[in-house]
Amino acid sequence: MSECKNCKKTLTPNEIGLTKKLINRGSTEFYCMDCLADIFKCDKPLLEKKIEQFRKQGCVLFV
Ligand SMILES: [Zn+2]
Repeated sequence: MSECKNCKKTLTPNEIGLTKKLINRGSTEFYCMDCLADIFKCDKPLLEKKIEQFRKQGCVLFV
């Protein structure tokens, strides 16, 4: 089970996928939505939209 590198929250597969998409495909350190929003200075709804977008594109990282 992966946890957020920053706040140690247990991560969902989507959060792991989003980290890979936004930071680095080969990343072994992952962040939760809250921390990603903080890192990228954006809000959570935007990240959720991004997940939806990637999933529609058929990206296998998202469920
Ligand atoms: Zn976090």
